[in-house]
Amino acid sequence: MENFTRPVARLIEEFSKLPGIGKKTAQRLAFHVINMNKMDAKALSSAILSVQDEIQYCTICCNITDSNPCAICSNRSRSDEIICVVEDPRDVASLERVKDFNGKYHVLHGVISPMDGIGPEGLKIKELMVRLSNEDIKEVILATNPNIEGEATAMYIARLIKPMKIKVTRIAHGLPIGGDLEYADEMTISKALEGRREI
Ligand SMILES: [Zn+2]
Repeated sequence: MENFTRPVARLIEEFSKLPGIGKKTAQRLAFHVINMNKMDAKALSSAILSVQDEIQYCTICCNITDSNPCAICSNRSRSDEIICVVEDPRDVASLERVKDFNGKYHVLHGVISPMDGIGPEGLKIKELMVRLSNEDIKEVILATNPNIEGEATAMYIARLIKPMKIKVTRIAHGLPIGGDLEYADEMTISKALEGRREI
């Protein structure tokens, strides 16, 4: 890094903090920015700042949104009786791409992972339970990813919901084990939803 003048070194350092960006890629990105015209560079920096300023959590489903409640929660043509629980806002985007699901969502923002020090209290599970006791929900679909943490989280939530007499289902294993929802194709997601079973 000492081979680069300070502002460049700083930019390389910031890029290399991003996930999946190694030193080489960080340098390539930094030099791309150096060669950008000023307007594009301004647009990039303002997009980064505004995503921080304008994005908030929906107070109902905990998805990221620029309006509260989010567009899905405030859509009256969607069913209020069925909630699909997912790990991540990107999973909502994947499921919405399929267009098979007409209920609402709840975003946990992670999974239970003792190895990473993440317990149930670190997720939006409390918020889900509040929804389930205040709203008239008929079914909860647990759509966490089919890996160890995703299964453990689904089982944990299922146990909490069981006494509430709400139907709890788990998406089918059309998804490959360890395969994230985020990377699944539309047909696979559609089949996983269709083949969900009660737990
Ligand atoms: Zn919402």
